Amino acid sequence: MDEMKTDTAGADGAMAAGASAAGASATAAATANADGTAGPNAAVGAPAPGAPAPVVRLENGSKSFDGTPVLRDISLEVMPGEVVAVIGPSGGGKSTLLRCLTLLETLDGGSLSYGELAVASPGADGRAVYGGKDVLARARQRFGLVFQQFNLFPHMTVLKNIMDAPLAVQRRDRAEVEAQARGLIEKMGLTGTEDKVPYQLSGGQQQRASIARALCLNPQALFFDEPTSALDPELTGEVLKVLKQLAAEDITMLVVTHEMAFAREVADRVVFMDGGRIVEEGPADQVIGSPRNPRTQEFLARYAG
Ligand code: ADP
Ligand code: MG
Repeated sequence: MDEMKTDTAGADGAMAAGASAAGASATAAATANADGTAGPNAAVGAPAPGAPAPVVRLENGSKSFDGTPVLRDISLEVMPGEVVAVIGPSGGGKSTLLRCLTLLETLDGGSLSYGELAVASPGADGRAVYGGKDVLARARQRFGLVFQQFNLFPHMTVLKNIMDAPLAVQRRDRAEVEAQARGLIEKMGLTGTEDKVPYQLSGGQQQRASIARALCLNPQALFFDEPTSALDPELTGEVLKVLKQLAAEDITMLVVTHEMAFAREVADRVVFMDGGRIVEEGPADQVIGSPRNPRTQEFLARYAG
């Protein structure tokens, strides 16, 4: 009903990364005094001057469907280079959280920002008010999204799938995009599939092509919603291997997953969601190895059994 438009036309493309870096330092300078203390214009809750800013930050996010709360007062930030795993029972709100973070769904309340870009802020009545088209388009340039179903264009070859948005949305140079796309194909272990269409590939290959497609937009962060849950175990392994490799390269990621061993090994931080709330979060080893909250304990025990 209140789904946001997902078109990305008119985005400022390849300019976004450089422009945003400049914008971020200008903001830091404007809100800090020479001695490093917060200046008069420093926002409440702003990070200390010099501290890295989160790639994405959600504060007090809330969302209901037909009067039923699905997200309740969710606050979450992802720092550059961080890998965050979101776990929890079905229906707990994980996908809705991801859809709100990636602007596929609107928040009812709360604030959402990408770096210095204020995407949504509470209005006078407390409801989330979204920024203009330009702000949303720029925010969309900051992240890539990989779903459970692979979402490749069925009629396009692997190479075309990967090159499409960098050319059509970011309006980048074709030769440069093609070189990057071919590099990503090699990196994802997809050499030889360039000219194939999705139905000629295994599910694992399709998902790796989806990841290459997301990476070719040079996002600051990648979001995954259960990227392996449509795959057989051996294909799951090859996709998790790619995610592990990206994590080792300090790619910023937020991954909704049911793969507990993967979350424990690869994530820096694990967030357990249930009933629309973050029930527990902390270092991966702690949350998965020795959960403190009874609901987390129950979930993980059921999961293991
Ligand atoms: P999870 O990903 O953790 O399984 P979801 O975010 O998909 O959870 O769903 C959380 C709750 O919100 C569920 O009760 C689901 O039925 C409901 N829900 C999700 N999307 C919609 C929608 N578009 N309309 C109505 N209810 C929805
Ligand atoms: Mg889900």
